[in-house]
Amino acid sequence: MKKVYKAHILYTKDKDHFEVLDNGYVAVDDEGCVTGVSTDLASLGVDVSQRCNTDTDVEIIDFGDKLLIPAMNDLHVHAAQYRNQGIAMDLELMEWLQSYTFPEEMKYADTVYAERMYRRFVHDLWRFGTMRVCTFASIHTESTRVLMHLFQKAGMGALVGKVAMNRNCPEGLSEPVEEMVKEYESLIVETLQETSLPLTAPYPPLVRPIITPRFIPSCTPEMLRACSELASKYQLPVQSHLSENKNEIAMVQELEGTWYGNAYNRYGLFGQTPTVMAHCVFTESEEMELMKRNDVMVAHCPTSNLNVTTGIAPIRQFLDKGVRVGLGSDISGGHNLSIFHVMVYAIQLSKAYYQLHRECPYLTLSEAFWMATKCGGSFFGRVGSFEPGYEFDALVIDDSDLNHDNYSLLERLERYIYMGDDRQIVHRFCRGKEILDNDQY
Ligand SMILES: [Zn+2]
Repeated sequence: MKKVYKAHILYTKDKDHFEVLDNGYVAVDDEGCVTGVSTDLASLGVDVSQRCNTDTDVEIIDFGDKLLIPAMNDLHVHAAQYRNQGIAMDLELMEWLQSYTFPEEMKYADTVYAERMYRRFVHDLWRFGTMRVCTFASIHTESTRVLMHLFQKAGMGALVGKVAMNRNCPEGLSEPVEEMVKEYESLIVETLQETSLPLTAPYPPLVRPIITPRFIPSCTPEMLRACSELASKYQLPVQSHLSENKNEIAMVQELEGTWYGNAYNRYGLFGQTPTVMAHCVFTESEEMELMKRNDVMVAHCPTSNLNVTTGIAPIRQFLDKGVRVGLGSDISGGHNLSIFHVMVYAIQLSKAYYQLHRECPYLTLSEAFWMATKCGGSFFGRVGSFEPGYEFDALVIDDSDLNHDNYSLLERLERYIYMGDDRQIVHRFCRGKEILDNDQY
């Protein structure tokens, strides 16, 4: 049955404007896709005179004075670092990796531990209204399988990466290349068997694998080539890290004899299939140009820029260049899983950057919202907007406890972004289905 949701609707078609519909309607078909959005019910093909008729094939759900917005998309987060959220925030990248990150990820050889932590992770994503996530798991196939199944049971969208790494890492986190390929193929084949949808369909399976070389310093050339071959053979997307830290950049130059982005590109891991690169803090002209040309996306992680690295990603330059940018919580380099709060940090960080580079205007609210919804969502397909043809991923916000009297709808949304949390999110939808508290699974 077609559903029509009524509420105050806010979303962004482009980065510079909000669409605001006071008492608007979004129509959603049986497949979970938006068929229309308007303040005029008749224009959505709903016969108003029939709406009380039990024979009608349209159900109207009225959310009254609440806000209806697209759900959040997190483009970079490490599920296997969830326990480390909020600790060791005073270390630099390499020391932080060796003393905290790697020892924690080793624990995921134990699937009982993995399931306990991953359940919390999926539940907390749900709490904060993140319905799509692009995540690193660990090298462990069995635990990665557990994470994929938890997302499937929850009904949330996820690109899940079994991490590939075989150098500059402790023994327990290194996997031989042939083993990685064999194990990864088993995950891919299972995904294909569990769904009737091809991985490359316009509306592909909600949960699917993503090729995940950790980053160049952790992968031998053979490992990088194997990752590229898997991505190409199964037409799978790729995620990794790029130009986060100056020591790391120097290491890549020494190992590969070229600059970071070019090294990925030479292996076929830089836009040959849809690719998202986290951080890009020190990305400059040549690398930015190649990202634009190959349509490589940036996962901007402002909290992690502040906590772990020594710089601020040049987001204004990426946007001016036309490079797509989404937001990432980057747990545990980042400390906050809420993409709403990550939006706030992105704006604040861009203001700090502006103090140093007056030629780079800071980010606006609509730009941050667009990165969190439509632009970030574009990595998953037609996700993050209420335009016709988009998958209905949505949140209903009850901001009555934020004293919204006499504020405009846009001011109410801004106040929610800056002051709200999970308590105001009263309904969550992913691909048209309401997603209930996944603690029950
Ligand atoms: Zn990361």
